Amino acid sequence: MSGPRRLPPWLKRRLGAGDTFQQTSATLESLGLETICTNANCPNRGDCWSRGTATVLILGNICTRNCRFCSVGHGKPESPNPDEPKKVAEMARRMALKYLVITSVDRDDLPDGGSGHFRNVILYCRRELPQLQFELLVPDFRGCPDLAIESLTPAAPFVFGHNVETVPSLYEKARPGGDYHRSLELLRMAKATWPHLDTKSSLMLGLGERDDEIQAVLKDLRAVGCDRLAIGQYLRPSKESLEVVEYIPPEKFDAWADIAQHMGFRWVMASPFTRSSYHAELQDTDKEP
Ligand code: SF4
Repeated sequence: MSGPRRLPPWLKRRLGAGDTFQQTSATLESLGLETICTNANCPNRGDCWSRGTATVLILGNICTRNCRFCSVGHGKPESPNPDEPKKVAEMARRMALKYLVITSVDRDDLPDGGSGHFRNVILYCRRELPQLQFELLVPDFRGCPDLAIESLTPAAPFVFGHNVETVPSLYEKARPGGDYHRSLELLRMAKATWPHLDTKSSLMLGLGERDDEIQAVLKDLRAVGCDRLAIGQYLRPSKESLEVVEYIPPEKFDAWADIAQHMGFRWVMASPFTRSSYHAELQDTDKEP
């Protein structure tokens, strides 16, 4: 199916510029750190980097999966960099971050899915910057969810994020290495292990999902105790990625935010440019950042 050709006016975004944007860029480059902002061609990079925030991508920028909505490269990744915890801490210090979102590629090649490296990054950063708060956006830890949860436990507290990304009927097309129920189960296990921590998930709209399917996903997420929800518009990050099927108008995101709040999500963000890490540091629900 060929997607809509013209970008609607509400999706026009300015590119980044200004001193803070340049400083963010220079800090990341000098430390040799990757971000999901650049690797995923995030449309919010100008906004986030100009506010002096970014989402660090640990464990390299080669993913062992090949999701069709994502522009991160795939193949055989390198071993985790033992210097990365120190570099991330230095980034947080230079950028004076209070809230750090950390994500990674899928690392199905590692016995613990990379969870031990997440833990090491957090523990190192917390030692250097005790006030820093953390949000994780983790892969599904296929084949090792128990080990991953065990590895991460010493690094609590954090917000535990894992994205279901889309409705189950579109997994085969969009997320062929993923499994909807595996993702839900990871969120359930996280909540059961750390009942006092918030769990979080995100959905992209515009891939051809139906409203009743979205509603069912929200219900499933609440059933596994998911506390936080982000809903945004899928935008094709590269020519190789899936086409956009539909541009969802902003009013419909507002409607989904209302529905989600009524369903009991305690933190909801829904707008065309919402991404799981977008304004993640805000503690209150905000429909239109
Ligand atoms: S929304 Fe997240 S991934 Fe996108 S630019 Fe902001 S911090 Fe980076």
